[in-house]
Amino acid sequence: MLYKEPAPIKDRENPFESMMSRFNVAAEILGLDEEIYNVLKSPTRQVIVNVPVTMDDGKVRVFEGYRVIHSTILGPSKGGIRYAPDVFLDEVKALAAWMTWKCAVVDIPYGGAKGGIICDPFTMSAGEIERLTRAYTAALADTFGPDQDIPAPDMGTGPREMAWLMDEYSKTKGSTVHAVVTGKPLVLGGSLGRVEATGRGVMVSAMAAMDKLGMDPAKSTAAIQGFGNVGAWAAKLMAERGVKILGVSDVSGAYWNDNGINIEDAIEYKNAHNGRLEGYKGAEMMDPDELLTSKVDVIVPAAVEDVITIKNVEKIQARLIVEGANGPTSYKADNIINEKGIMVVPDILANSGGVTVSYFEWVQNRMGFKWTLDRVNERAERIMNESFERVYSASQKYNVPMRIAAYIVAIDKVAMTYKYRGGF
Ligand code: NAD
Repeated sequence: MLYKEPAPIKDRENPFESMMSRFNVAAEILGLDEEIYNVLKSPTRQVIVNVPVTMDDGKVRVFEGYRVIHSTILGPSKGGIRYAPDVFLDEVKALAAWMTWKCAVVDIPYGGAKGGIICDPFTMSAGEIERLTRAYTAALADTFGPDQDIPAPDMGTGPREMAWLMDEYSKTKGSTVHAVVTGKPLVLGGSLGRVEATGRGVMVSAMAAMDKLGMDPAKSTAAIQGFGNVGAWAAKLMAERGVKILGVSDVSGAYWNDNGINIEDAIEYKNAHNGRLEGYKGAEMMDPDELLTSKVDVIVPAAVEDVITIKNVEKIQARLIVEGANGPTSYKADNIINEKGIMVVPDILANSGGVTVSYFEWVQNRMGFKWTLDRVNERAERIMNESFERVYSASQKYNVPMRIAAYIVAIDKVAMTYKYRGGF
């Protein structure tokens, strides 16, 4: 019954295989029916579109785009759209399934989806990106919909693209449909609190895990990889709760201060320097490869995938890993982490604050009513804490690590829903 991918696609672990390896462990523990297993391992729908776009030089270029809907059993599917030169179908399939598990873990009424277009947004003009976004939206107008499939930003896309998507979709329907997409600019129905939601969720998860481990935040230290949206917000909010952030890193390098980095100051510097810490004087430069294995109590990978692997996992000294990024830990590193007794708050739980507030955006759009920032934060924090407790209880009940417990919670919910809905 175990799923096996025919061949690895890249030299790193195949993301779909990596996701399925964890899924398989949880499915075995749950004694999942073979029928349901087969349903869940296969995406419901995979759409490939080829969209012609007139470029600024007057020539027409054709771009390949994907939308994979993994499951709609819990509700309309939800997931971001990625613009990158190396997007590939297996990656989009893995990310779509991840979204199903993530929404199920936090108990919001969404299925999972993901989209992507093979393009390099950094070499394209705003006009070209707009025409591409509109063409992709028009090609998928029958797939998207506030009750069907709701996109959001991902790598290479942001509020600007979501505004174009909403506008193009609305034109095909003849009326303004705010709720077809989340991550929109505030004036177009975006939600207060969405920007910081993922970092805030990482902080809430970190606090909940430290509480279980008997760690006092005010006496604990942390290192954070990635100082973008997720990393910088997580650093700021953890520091506000007393955690001393000794190290941070971004693409420009890694920065260390034995007395703790002044995070407000570092964010101010980054904002004034093109989003990077290059040249920051409030800390010493260090080898970026040593950040995650440095002597701290907590590490937060919040940049890219596959950064904790069999190459560095033995050297990790932290007691707690809170995964801000998607897929930062390779499947092969899991066992060693468990043997070392390190607690991991896995990505599908730790970074789910983002999709939670996206869900709030959709709810507000459908109500035609805006919530205050306090209401958004308070509700998101409650959902994150409840979800953490659900996963922690499952880890105690089945005597498994938090990652497998999160998959158990998610798969159990989706499988139960299939059982009640029936129909096949
Ligand atoms: P971002 O682009 O705002 O920031 C990424 C940061 O990582 C930047 O500081 C960049 O310099 C740094 N970085 C890139 N490569 C690095 C490397 N090799 N070593 C160290 N730093 C590196 O992106 P983000 O929105 O903060 O997303 C970060 C991660 O969190 C991604 O895995 C993303 O999928 C995940 N995530 C984001 C959200 C969200 O709401 N933004 C939600 C869920 C998951």
